[in-house]
Amino acid sequence: MAWSERSAVLFDLDGVLTPTAEVHMAAWAEMFGAYLAGVDTGRPGFEGADTSPYTDADYFAHVDGKPRYEGVADLLAARGITLPAGSPEDPPDAETVCGLGNRKNDAFTTVLERDGVRPYPGSVALLDHLRDLGVPLAVVSSSANAPAVLAAAGLTDRFVTVVNGRVAAALGLPGKPAPDTFLHAATACGAAPAEAVVVEDAVSGVRAGAAGAFGLVVGVDRGAGEDALRAAGADLVVADLGDLA
Ligand SMILES: [Mg+2]
Repeated sequence: MAWSERSAVLFDLDGVLTPTAEVHMAAWAEMFGAYLAGVDTGRPGFEGADTSPYTDADYFAHVDGKPRYEGVADLLAARGITLPAGSPEDPPDAETVCGLGNRKNDAFTTVLERDGVRPYPGSVALLDHLRDLGVPLAVVSSSANAPAVLAAAGLTDRFVTVVNGRVAAALGLPGKPAPDTFLHAATACGAAPAEAVVVEDAVSGVRAGAAGAFGLVVGVDRGAGEDALRAAGADLVVADLGDLA
């Protein structure tokens, strides 16, 4: 890879630089574990509730891959618990679907600060290499938690800019698979899209890279599969970014 000829490298965060899914899983376990342990099946409306301990199997069956509030509602339904939906503005102590979802978000921050998150060693090797070459780097993530994750991983100082969900919303930029957040990051790095590289592990993110006519789109296969990433527009697929360092 002739990295020195590139004017910017734009990285997705979750699954590319950090195994953030593990932190989310731990946060769900923290939140539901505490909630279910506190459910009083003597309360009217809770008589039939299944309050057995929350497990990883619950996560994969009811929560994994879903928007946050849907994951809460589906897990509760599986336990025979019906709560009011509430609203996204609900405080984390509200006993509503949205309140529990917001409680999970707080648990994410707690787990992150308590346990930290160890970035993929191969990804750090590539970041080190690019830093030595002086290539400007950016993070482009749909997650509002991106700055906290980068801080917990000790990577904050590596990047010119972090375009996360909050930044995108404030600027009115559509998220992936639209290319706008990556284009914004390239501009912040002073790079034309054709001079920049996009690194993504998700099909939607690879699509965003292809739609933006970036110079190179690298797919990182963490489970999406090489064929799917190539079909979405990846020029190159690797299992570990250390292969490109
Ligand atoms: Mg990702």
